[in-house]
Amino acid sequence: MTPDLEARLAFCNNLPTLPGAALQLVELAQDPEAHIASAAKIISYDPALSAKVLRVANSPLYATQRKVENLRQALTVLGLNATLSLALGLSLAKSLRAAWNQFGHSDAVWRRSILAATACRCLGEKLALPRTEELMLAGLLQDIGRLVLGQLDPARYAGVCAEAADGDALLTREREAFGADHAEVGAWLARRWSLPAYLEQAIAGSENGGGKDPFDACVALSGLIADLWIVPNPEEHRRRVSDLAQAWLGLSRADFAEVITLVTESIPDFAMLFDMRLAEPERMDAIVEHARELLLIRNLKDIQEAQRLRREAERLEDHARALEDRARRDPLTGLFNRAHFQELLEKEFDGARQFGWPISLAFIDLDDFKQINDRFGHLVGDEVLRQFATVLAMSVRASDVLCRFGGEEFLLLLPGTGEAAARTLLQRLLQQISSTPMAEVDDQVIRVTASVGLATMSGALGYDSADKLVRAADRALYDAKGRGRNRICVAEGDSPVEPR
Ligand code: GH3
Ligand code: MG
Ligand code: MG
Repeated sequence: MTPDLEARLAFCNNLPTLPGAALQLVELAQDPEAHIASAAKIISYDPALSAKVLRVANSPLYATQRKVENLRQALTVLGLNATLSLALGLSLAKSLRAAWNQFGHSDAVWRRSILAATACRCLGEKLALPRTEELMLAGLLQDIGRLVLGQLDPARYAGVCAEAADGDALLTREREAFGADHAEVGAWLARRWSLPAYLEQAIAGSENGGGKDPFDACVALSGLIADLWIVPNPEEHRRRVSDLAQAWLGLSRADFAEVITLVTESIPDFAMLFDMRLAEPERMDAIVEHARELLLIRNLKDIQEAQRLRREAERLEDHARALEDRARRDPLTGLFNRAHFQELLEKEFDGARQFGWPISLAFIDLDDFKQINDRFGHLVGDEVLRQFATVLAMSVRASDVLCRFGGEEFLLLLPGTGEAAARTLLQRLLQQISSTPMAEVDDQVIRVTASVGLATMSGALGYDSADKLVRAADRALYDAKGRGRNRICVAEGDSPVEPR
């Protein structure tokens, strides 16, 4: 960059600024001690942003068994770095785009950036690179230098863009008019904003192949892939980009066609995420059609074989999933069994300890259940257990975990729930249980009650292990039985938590 341009930039007060939330996210990303709770807090100040992070965590990209219902879970599913990158991308896109439009520029630059972000993520996925969310962010920010030039001298930059017929011409014109191209200026801005070093490097390399690092090469290629949805003659452009994909990333033509299909399929999701229409439907169809033709012509046989294998793999996977699911459940009630519960419990317990979230565990035991067996027989007893389990399952939230511990004993895990809220929920549950007919024998309705032992880890009350939490809940249950049944007793906690 020329000293003249540096000086102009230094004195220009139009430059894009880092929005407040983004600033905090950048700081957090650089803090090795950062933890999920602080990220959740920053993100939660922006409800629209929170909603989008949740949407991503629930998207097929991160398919999990349970629905992700709050930021705490989203952060656990996505991981800290991915969430920070995602949140930073979404928050920057929103505020920088608004500033950009104020200068009278069109949305075309943003459309390309978001398409490039989509392409970058898809490339990362195809190449099985780690850090796909960071790739998405780098793809999104690669042209951020254009914002700087466009705000430094809006009229002149609009002229530069209008005259440039393609990407190379744009770089040349930028250098003529400003003494540097937007990749250099973008890297400068990244440094000035203290964005992570990998972003500065990827932006700097975004217009010349990115170099040897596959991360940077993905970013450089993603801009060119985005152009497939933008340039007037995509046919010719596609051949060129396909060759570059081979040269920079070792992608065969068939691999490249797959990436294009993946990008096309991801466009609607990204368009929704960034609130922007990304491509005309006709062009989407044409591009996918072409990618398919290419694949077809190249290796029809391979495709058929691949499809057959994929179907076979899917069938096996479905089968394996069904078996796995069966192995996790209790056959009588369909609830999770003890072994699987133990696994989930350990995970949630560790998360709660690490990040200081509350967690509650309830031991629930039917009262005088033996008498039901004795009076009506075991089959009716079974029916009661099934109905009891249904009532439990219907009364808890999707994020809660329920299991049949054994016999007529059940466990309910309430992650993120403190003692007061757990008590309220359980009180309601006991009412529900006592008011629901569990079975009918000769016109006689069978009702039951249950006793509950509750143990909560939160704030001052700690437990060394998940097992100790279970044991505490069990002891509290024993108290509940001793004090007359059909009630909740709460454990006192094992040890005070050290201050964090
Ligand atoms: P308390 O209020 O003290 O819990 O009394 P209780 O009778 O419920 O408890 P106890 O532990 O004495 O008896 C539990 C009974 O549950 C004994 C056992 O036969 C019965 N049981 C355990 N598993 C099953 C099952 O799968 N089906 C049926 N029908 N009964 C079961
Ligand atoms: Mg019992
Ligand atoms: Mg019992």
